[in-house]
Amino acid sequence: MFRLLKTLIGLFFSWISSFGYKGKPDTKEIVDNGYQLLSSNEIPLDIDPKIIYVEGNSKILGNNWYAHFICPCGCEERIMLNLLEDVSPSWSLTINKDKTSFSIYPSIWRTNNCKSHFWIKDGKVLWV
Ligand SMILES: [Zn+2]
Repeated sequence: MFRLLKTLIGLFFSWISSFGYKGKPDTKEIVDNGYQLLSSNEIPLDIDPKIIYVEGNSKILGNNWYAHFICPCGCEERIMLNLLEDVSPSWSLTINKDKTSFSIYPSIWRTNNCKSHFWIKDGKVLWV
């Protein structure tokens, strides 16, 4: 009888946790395993390695000029991507509909030093 009660309680708690899991994506996961996005008119000299700084006129939505961030490979070098469509090469930054994450297209392939090649998808680094 006690064993049955214990099983029922266990089932109840697993139901509760699976119910809670159905909510929004875990934003903590995005912060821990990837980058956060910060729109700014001025880019600091010492940039946070967990943040992608988007330079542009933040008052005008979608008017972004450059993305600045630290290379995810650990080489600590700064990467600057051009986001202006009419200047080549250019990358596009898309914010997901739920506004909890973002992606950069196409992939980023460094031609010098560490030669890292990766995608940034849903705020996370995907190595090629
Ligand atoms: Zn690197």
